[in-house]
Amino acid sequence: MQNQGKSLTNLHKEMRACRSCLEAGHEIVPPAIFSGGMGARIMTIGQAPGITEVEADRPFNAGSGQRLFKWLAEVGIEETWFRTTQYMTSVTKCYPGRSASGSGDRVPSRAEQVLCRPYLDREIELIDPALIIPIGRLAINLFFPKSLKLTDIIGTQKEFQGRNIVPLPHSSGASRWHQVEANRIHIRQAVALIGDHTRALYPELFDR
Ligand code: SF4
Repeated sequence: MQNQGKSLTNLHKEMRACRSCLEAGHEIVPPAIFSGGMGARIMTIGQAPGITEVEADRPFNAGSGQRLFKWLAEVGIEETWFRTTQYMTSVTKCYPGRSASGSGDRVPSRAEQVLCRPYLDREIELIDPALIIPIGRLAINLFFPKSLKLTDIIGTQKEFQGRNIVPLPHSSGASRWHQVEANRIHIRQAVALIGDHTRALYPELFDR
């Protein structure tokens, strides 16, 4: 565990110093944004940080975080506990800037995802989470076929390489999916699954 802790510290230093996308000509704003350390049993994987995440140096900082933790609060998962004990990262770890249309942030290109992927693989290997929560289509595509609609995925779970995967939709205000009334039942089902797994992993939290 001590060696793994050192490896994680080194990985975090590497990620913060990484400028691979800039060197390859992609317009991103470093540094990498993530949070958490060894001992976490739950990992969230978002798409990429926004500008407020860079300014605050924490994932899911503003509206997307408020919505995410409002969902999780419904099954007794408290934001401060989660942020201080669990691991939060993303498919690409630097802010990709605004989209050309001006509506929301730019979706990281395939090339950026490929450049950043080794960091995510190493985070998963070192943290070894029992539960992974991919948030938004880009992260969900790491675990589920792209051909499936969100309505077929959100509210379900799967096992992948010995881990439980429970996806959530993108929680930012730029996303319309979670605002559609008919989709809310899927979100409630997904949150209930996350609550079940969290209760099994941390029974003491719910026995108080
Ligand atoms: S997005 Fe990932 S690969 Fe690209 S510069 Fe940031 S840390 Fe490096």
